[in-house]
Amino acid sequence: MKIICVGRNYVAHAKELNNEIPDEPVLFLKPDTALLRNNDPFYIPEWSQDVHHEIELIVRINKLGKNIDRKFAHRYYVEIGLGIDFTARDVQNVLKDKGLPWEKAKAFDYSAVVCPEFVKIDSLPDLSSIGFRLDVNGKTVQEGNSALMIFSFDSIISHVSKYFTLKMGDLIFTGTPAGVGPVKIGDRLEGYLEGKKKFDFLVK
Ligand code: ZN
Repeated sequence: MKIICVGRNYVAHAKELNNEIPDEPVLFLKPDTALLRNNDPFYIPEWSQDVHHEIELIVRINKLGKNIDRKFAHRYYVEIGLGIDFTARDVQNVLKDKGLPWEKAKAFDYSAVVCPEFVKIDSLPDLSSIGFRLDVNGKTVQEGNSALMIFSFDSIISHVSKYFTLKMGDLIFTGTPAGVGPVKIGDRLEGYLEGKKKFDFLVK
């Protein structure tokens, strides 16, 4: 399986990092070794002093597809999840300044937190308005809603599948809302989707 991530999919987050609003989805990938599941603890890598949390809605692909037309994209997923795209911001800023790829900052081991259980789409009232949030040590630090995404689930799937064949089990991280910030040892991270807790783990 592969993990595809969308960058800068919320206007307020693009602005907080002084990035332009993209006219097509910004994509990057993480390998399967980036997965962190089952509420396992996250260990801050020793080579970064500024690892940020980015809470994101995740689409799980359930069918093989390439060059998927946007109007058929809804046929390629039945579940939405919640996770964190951990980002070594200090490393990313150095790479960005040099115009180099982001992989070291984005695709490192255990940088892709995925909630233990996904939510069936037909159990959600409205796919275009899914509320989610991240609490750190009991305080809400990021709040988002799929209504605020620049590119919808369907347009992301259509765009991604022009470049990468999608396979069953692939995960698409759909971008983070504003409020990203550093994590420190001892933090407890809890993610909520439509008010229901989806993950709960510690930073070590
Ligand atoms: Zn992200």
